[in-house]
Amino acid sequence: MFGTNGVRGVVGKDLTPELVFKIGESLGSIRPGCIAVGRDTRTSGETLMNAVKAGILASGCDVADCGILPTPALQYIVGNHFDGGAMITASHNPPEYNGVKIIEADGTEMGDEETIKLEKIIFSHTARPVAWNRCGKESNNVYLLEEYIRGIVDSFSHNIGEGMTVVVDPGSGPACLTTSRILIDLGCNVISLNGILDGSFPGRLPEPSVEGLHNLAELVVSCGADFGIAHDGDADRAVFIDDKGQFLEENREFALLTQYACRGKKGGIVTPVSTGQVVEEVAKLENCSVVYTPVGSIYVARTMRSLIDQGKTVVIGGEGNGGIIFPDHQFCRDGGMTGAMMVSLLSSTGKKLSSLVADLPQRVIIKEKISSANGSEIIRFLHEAFSEDRIDQTDGIKIFRNNSWALIRASGTEPIIRIIIDADTEYNGQEFYGEIAEKIAAVSL
Ligand code: MG
Repeated sequence: MFGTNGVRGVVGKDLTPELVFKIGESLGSIRPGCIAVGRDTRTSGETLMNAVKAGILASGCDVADCGILPTPALQYIVGNHFDGGAMITASHNPPEYNGVKIIEADGTEMGDEETIKLEKIIFSHTARPVAWNRCGKESNNVYLLEEYIRGIVDSFSHNIGEGMTVVVDPGSGPACLTTSRILIDLGCNVISLNGILDGSFPGRLPEPSVEGLHNLAELVVSCGADFGIAHDGDADRAVFIDDKGQFLEENREFALLTQYACRGKKGGIVTPVSTGQVVEEVAKLENCSVVYTPVGSIYVARTMRSLIDQGKTVVIGGEGNGGIIFPDHQFCRDGGMTGAMMVSLLSSTGKKLSSLVADLPQRVIIKEKISSANGSEIIRFLHEAFSEDRIDQTDGIKIFRNNSWALIRASGTEPIIRIIIDADTEYNGQEFYGEIAEKIAAVSL
């Protein structure tokens, strides 16, 4: 039931208040104490938040209601104050979806092993409501959001954004309450777009796609802004529009922030095997190394944590989708912090975002999907077929050839195989893809 990002589904169909109640009740049975809950702006949010709260209270745990807030804000608050958390969100999914993301006491997302335990409790109905005199108590903790905003603003020099103009597009999501505030407090002039909380998402869908952000791009250019920032539906991710109105591809965004994080610091960068090669190239130029994980931000966060626990230095972590983790701040993707870091980066270089992006190494990325139900068989076959090349099996199969690589993974939820090629030239990339597609077609016959 739980995927890499919690439980998600269409409300009323896959995701019912009854199920969310059971999740709350089961969570309370394994994480005694006080559980913080929050939600994004979806129209089903109030219903499901009340369901999860009822479940937690029925288990005998207390509830700290944190209201509407970004997922990373709830993670920050849980890490500082509570014994666990439950966030009602479906992140970037369309408005009819919702979900529950479980947060551990240290603010990280719940890992696979604990999630399986939780699922077993849900399905075996072993969690039971406590007696009338042992039910939990609820408190209002909406004021704690201010702590998250201060936590970010206070990590930078005073007025670091002075003279900078930024257009903020939180997409009617919970970052309406945070990102503009953070940037204003850093000294920026802020212009807001889709800045009113609205779960029907009237301006654009929760996924911050190139198509959905054309209004933001136009506004950045017409206002002569330094950049535009947009979030997904729960603001753990941030994407950018540069001063020329161009969408900053997310691998290049991560590369730029990696370059900045590596300056004057020696250490590791942690990222999934699917992240663009541009990040490793930038890291190498700064004498830093990259540690690769399976795909999923939870693996990135936990690897960062364990490397730091071993006494190693980790400068940044993240994915090539705008989800970036700053270890001095907290061990989860944080869209608000990513925006603040962009302000800091631009003020430290004094250059335009578009010119910094143009200076990054050029790479070609090809993303394709092939329908197939026997993904694991195909991956085994490719392993043999490409045995002459260097192969990595952290997640799926990653085949290295000259200055390019191909990552082939079977989807966990659909009968498809995903292919990413990251190449030095368009020609080499297409050639490599052609060879792989041909081999897959041969084995599928
Ligand atoms: Mg998200």
